[in-house]
Amino acid sequence: METLKRKILDEGRLLDGHILKVDNFLNHQIDVRLLDAIGAEFARRFDGEAIDKILTIEASGIAVAVAASPHFDHAPVVFAKKTQSLNLDGEAYESSVYSYTKQVTYKVRVSKRYLRAGERVLIIDDFLANGAAATGLIDIVRQAGAVPVAVGIVIEKGFQPGRSKVQDAGVRVESLAVIKSFDDNRVHFD
Ligand code: 5GP
Repeated sequence: METLKRKILDEGRLLDGHILKVDNFLNHQIDVRLLDAIGAEFARRFDGEAIDKILTIEASGIAVAVAASPHFDHAPVVFAKKTQSLNLDGEAYESSVYSYTKQVTYKVRVSKRYLRAGERVLIIDDFLANGAAATGLIDIVRQAGAVPVAVGIVIEKGFQPGRSKVQDAGVRVESLAVIKSFDDNRVHFD
């Protein structure tokens, strides 16, 4: 998606040579016009797929998922929570996720109310790196007996194993911008 790549080149900042900060348009301040175009691009890529629900993970996936929803017939958005607030007595599906950026393992949870057997689920997130977040969400969808139709990613770090992890789990991946490397402290696309 050329407008997205342009935005990353113009406004993205590299931190420590391996974390791309996109706070100017995606992760802190949000460019809603760009997010609407991102939602439309996901709809183009997943054209013909029946989607009952969009699943993401708090916090930064939520804006992307909400922007995508109107392009999927306003499918409800559910976000996995990272806090303990969802009860611990079996009313939630949960999976463990190792955070690449924070270097800690945490649990993500989705209430059993909001994922039902047979539902066709599109998983959306802002970044794909090692694939821990995406495979954790796939695990939760499958625990519910629902169907992980595909994973839609805004920015993929193509030099990390996330894509193969998701594909090994048997799920299609579509990324709108795939970064080939951060060589010379700059972003290079495929
Ligand atoms: P993964 O689970 O695939 O290793 O990493 C995906 C998650 O880590 C995303 O939800 C995203 O929040 C975060 N992440 C991974 N790499 C980056 C990065 O370079 N920049 C930002 N802003 N977030 C990242």
